[in-house]
Amino acid sequence: MTTLLEARNVTKVYGGGFLSKETNVALDNFSLTIEDGNPSVTVIAGESGSGKTTIANLLLDVIHPSAGEIRYRDKNLAHMSPAEHRTFRREVQAIFQDPFEAYNPFHKVDRVLRMPLRKFGLASGEAEQRKIIHEALELVGLRPEETLGRYPHQLSGGQRQRVMVARALVLHPRIIIADEPVSMVDASLRATILESLLRLNRELGISLIYITHDLTTAYQVGQSIFVLYRGSVTELGDVELVIKHPQHPYTRLLVESIPLADPARRWGEGTISITAEEENHATGPGCKFLGRCRHAMPICGEQSVPTFRTDDLRGVACFLHQDAPVMVDGDAATVLSQLARRSQVGSHAKTPSRKEEREE
Ligand code: ADP
Ligand code: MG
Repeated sequence: MTTLLEARNVTKVYGGGFLSKETNVALDNFSLTIEDGNPSVTVIAGESGSGKTTIANLLLDVIHPSAGEIRYRDKNLAHMSPAEHRTFRREVQAIFQDPFEAYNPFHKVDRVLRMPLRKFGLASGEAEQRKIIHEALELVGLRPEETLGRYPHQLSGGQRQRVMVARALVLHPRIIIADEPVSMVDASLRATILESLLRLNRELGISLIYITHDLTTAYQVGQSIFVLYRGSVTELGDVELVIKHPQHPYTRLLVESIPLADPARRWGEGTISITAEEENHATGPGCKFLGRCRHAMPICGEQSVPTFRTDDLRGVACFLHQDAPVMVDGDAATVLSQLARRSQVGSHAKTPSRKEEREE
């Protein structure tokens, strides 16, 4: 199996330039692998400020790693030829939180669909362009005749976001990175937009990287999950294991903070906040969660925490699990690959109603 997109031990540090002494490690030693021919749905979840958009921007080559590398089709993005980079830009598409920002209010929505085709020279004439655009709109559940010819403000928020998904689709991407794609959309529309993204995964074989602060949608759409806390992965692996039986004290706190009676409640809604004292703990060599952890031990503040493979399909960056083997480079990729393959054979098909099983 060849690798499509890969983050290899990527760290991103902001600040520390000529005039500022303050540095901020937005992402710390992050690794992720998306395979070719094995369409997957990978969730990156975390509170606001945990580094999610930093990961999206790194994977999209919008910003560059301070250490480590991002690779596409086994080539470091930093060393690609213009032709290779063009392929990368076509095959890896993004959908962002606020679709309105992507539109020019004075142009009809048709334009956002035509521009990428023109830029990549993908349609040989007006008729072919029309055909590609119609197909993409239908794939995301929009009627071309009701969508084309309109101005952005004449569409609902949900329709605008679907047009953005269609825009990614016209380029026949291999990967779609969706950074909080439904957080600005009414709760009633969230499920349908996520469902249309999942359809692209199942029917067109597009791998999805779904970024969210919402554990509920994470559970509904994901096969695998990376939970981020202040730029570090605390727990990763099978979404069922991680959300139903979390092992990292931070993941446990998150899962407990979502009342089962209200699965629509989201992270960052007042339950979790960081005090100044906890901030200080987070700057040492050890675990960034130390100041908030009920199980803190001396070792937690002294050493950086490896990820322990507590299970075939899960890793936990916590010394409570130090009896388990340490994950080495490549282990996480194996876990992700197993999860994607397992769900392809249908044994992991999930419906939204499965979230109720958390009550067991
Ligand atoms: P999230 O998307 O999870 O909310 P981000 O990736 O946007 O988090 O931010 C992670 C951390 O990096 C935050 O502490 C944020 O303040 C910081 N950060 C993000 N972008 C920049 C930037 N351009 N310059 C300086 N700091 C940044
Ligand atoms: Mg963000």
